[in-house]
Amino acid sequence: MIVIDEKKIWEEIEKRKPVSVAINGPDGILSKIQEVAKKITSRFNIPAYVLADPTWGSCDLNTAGAQMLGVDVLFHIGHTIRIEGFGNNVVMIDAFDDISFDSVAKKCVKELGRKTVSLVTDSQHLLHLKVVKKILEEGGMNVLIGEGKGQLNDGQVFGCEFYPTEQTKDDVDANVFLGQSNFHAAGIALSTNKPTYVLDPYFNEIREVTEFAQKLQKKATLTIYKAAEAKTFGIIVGLKEGQLSKITALKFKKELEKEDKNVLLFALTDITSDRLERLSGVDAFIQVACPRISIDNHFNKPVLSTPQAHALLKLLRNESIQGYLQIPHWL
Ligand code: SF4
Repeated sequence: MIVIDEKKIWEEIEKRKPVSVAINGPDGILSKIQEVAKKITSRFNIPAYVLADPTWGSCDLNTAGAQMLGVDVLFHIGHTIRIEGFGNNVVMIDAFDDISFDSVAKKCVKELGRKTVSLVTDSQHLLHLKVVKKILEEGGMNVLIGEGKGQLNDGQVFGCEFYPTEQTKDDVDANVFLGQSNFHAAGIALSTNKPTYVLDPYFNEIREVTEFAQKLQKKATLTIYKAAEAKTFGIIVGLKEGQLSKITALKFKKELEKEDKNVLLFALTDITSDRLERLSGVDAFIQVACPRISIDNHFNKPVLSTPQAHALLKLLRNESIQGYLQIPHWL
């Protein structure tokens, strides 16, 4: 069950005395967020708007929505990071999954044996890292937890940022991800080039995602080769606050023009196949927003992420593109 740190919300409201607030978080906990909004209104008698657009990470808070509503505080729930807020008006609120990993961790000891592993997770399971480490070590495994960096806590990854596993990758046999997210685990497998397992406490199973990750890499590489044949590129700047990379977009434009390619610039909030279908005269796109949009989705034309676009430039210059995803941050 997801447990939201409501106490922090009450304390912040008592301290700041806002006239109105907004509240948002990932789709998976939207119903819980609605409950919190109801509680805010009944406890403090102020309007609490649920910002119900999707939010995929601390890079995508919808502060523009909160500003348009004119609220005094935006409580962003469920994307726990090392910092407590952004500016004065955004307060990050923890939401943890209290499911027990005891059983699946014991199973992991039996299945993986005496391996050395890097233990890693997403925001919602951070509090389980130490407990699982102890169980694995008692079973004879050697467990490392890599240090966090920037917004990442120790042992935490985002879908595009893998500093803890980057730090441990040369010293371990495999990565072990706590939670249910094949998405995060596949990113870890790709960036470290190591076997990677998901410890799923809900299904009480250990899943290897290495092969799935390799398929994603093959698709990503094929897309780079297809894009190399394009004459006209559309470079898309993402309009989400933590994904705005105008400088990177302009650098790619300059470099592609040196390779005799035409470039058109676009800006989009949500980069979807439907929106791209409406843009004419473009053979391939580069989007410098969220790398996982390109790596995990299917588009009718090549749509490259930032690391793929770096690889494309190398390809156009007849350089090797090997290891283009084996980096700790895909932006
Ligand atoms: S850019 Fe994409 S993968 Fe990276 S943190 Fe944001 S939503 Fe996640």
